[in-house]
Amino acid sequence: MIAFGFNNTYTRLPDRFYARLAPTPVAKPGLVRINEAVARELGLDPDALASPEGIAVLAGNAVPADADPIALAYAGHQFGYFSPQLGDGRALLLGEVVGRDGARRDIQLKGSGPTPFSRNGDGRAALGPVLREYLISEAMAGFGIPTTRALAAVTTGQPVYRETALPGAVLTRVAASHIRVGTFQYFASQQDEEAVRLLADYTIDRHDPAARQAASPYRALLEGVIARQATLVAQWLLVGFIHGVMNTDNAAVSGETIDYGPCAFMDAYDPRTVFSSIDELGRYAYANQPGIAHWNVTRLAEAMLPLLAPETDAAVEIAKECLAGFGPRFEAAYLGGLRRKIGLQSAEDEDRALIQDLLSRMKDNAADFTLTFRKLAAAAADPATDSGVRAEFTDPSAYDGWATAWRTRLGRDAGTAEERRAAMEAVNPAYIPRNHLVEEALEAAVSHQDYGPFEAMLAVVTRPFEERPGLERYAKPPLPDQRVLRTFCGT
Ligand code: AMP
Ligand code: MG
Repeated sequence: MIAFGFNNTYTRLPDRFYARLAPTPVAKPGLVRINEAVARELGLDPDALASPEGIAVLAGNAVPADADPIALAYAGHQFGYFSPQLGDGRALLLGEVVGRDGARRDIQLKGSGPTPFSRNGDGRAALGPVLREYLISEAMAGFGIPTTRALAAVTTGQPVYRETALPGAVLTRVAASHIRVGTFQYFASQQDEEAVRLLADYTIDRHDPAARQAASPYRALLEGVIARQATLVAQWLLVGFIHGVMNTDNAAVSGETIDYGPCAFMDAYDPRTVFSSIDELGRYAYANQPGIAHWNVTRLAEAMLPLLAPETDAAVEIAKECLAGFGPRFEAAYLGGLRRKIGLQSAEDEDRALIQDLLSRMKDNAADFTLTFRKLAAAAADPATDSGVRAEFTDPSAYDGWATAWRTRLGRDAGTAEERRAAMEAVNPAYIPRNHLVEEALEAAVSHQDYGPFEAMLAVVTRPFEERPGLERYAKPPLPDQRVLRTFCGT
């Protein structure tokens, strides 16, 4: 039997934290791919994973001897409305592995069959959304943004029934943990203060060990989660990422991006951009994400109130102080990132206005978010390449007015032109997983069992800053008739 070297800690928490059960076997497991780099980081042998024995485990048809599969209990606010019980309805935590870097990670099967938390769901996942999560999470890792990873994808040989019958699949997901804001809410809403405390202690051990030494460890934990969420959402904005379902059950306290559903990247810059077909009111639109992340950590603070102080009023005061840290933390990460995107190493008070001016010109002129910044790198080194940036604006002169002010500002910054260009190209991706190409790659795999486009795209987006000849097609925004306006979570 294949050995993962599981070393489980979540299962030491009381029974009410999870349901213990095995995955439901599938008809005919088939390998889509193993993520060799992630396997190695975890100290796993990619060849063993790709063997029939390994594939059986990844499909849920065999359970390694040292695994102790559980479905985690959690609650969550979905689009602002509280569900007291969600939980892993189609996922199982196989166990935890301590990787070569010494970090503990969860290995989870997603799409592994029904659990006590499935409600009316079938516990399964369709191939398209599995590939989508694989592709986008690996792209996020390529940007250097905290994220869960994809260790493997397998097909089940069984259909799943959504609007139509679709091929089924299982994703093996790797995460720093699967503790969500909604996990705290689950126990808090049951007034189970003991469980909230146990969960907080567990989270401190796993994610914020330094908090143990703080004057108030629970406060330090809350501050840690708030800081991670604030930084994460800033990183999303800096690459044009729209998560799409920022429910509290999809907010990981580790600070990793988790639960890729109808997520997508913006092409033309517009802060109101929404792709998700179910987000009718635009609650999770691009520019709303910082406010929503703050809303989500406010729900965490509420759930943790009994831990912050014995008296409610005092606890609320502490929670407010912690939450006040979100804005400055977000702002520092966002503004700092934008400064780097336009090539600045130094900071001046007027930088914000300069950047805002660029963004509003981009919005008014439907400039492609990714390409505008990428092309600015060349323009920073050589104004002769301005034509490239200008071409991104419907009215190219909108760029000229800004570029003059920008160059004046660059003149007060350090570094040579070539250093600046290299620094900018290291933060402004040439490639993002463009929606129209994502859809094309998934369609080829799902409808024609052709994984070529998926593999090709994966190779592009996992090295997003390295511009390579022959990949021009991946850098280009969609033509008007290629534009994808709606994405579906496909659950
Ligand atoms: P999500 O929108 O994917 O974050 O899922 C929200 C909740 O619905 C979680 O509790 C999931 O486990 C559950 N869920 C989603 N899809 C299914 C499914 N096909 N079967 C059972 N539960 C599901
Ligand atoms: Mg979820």
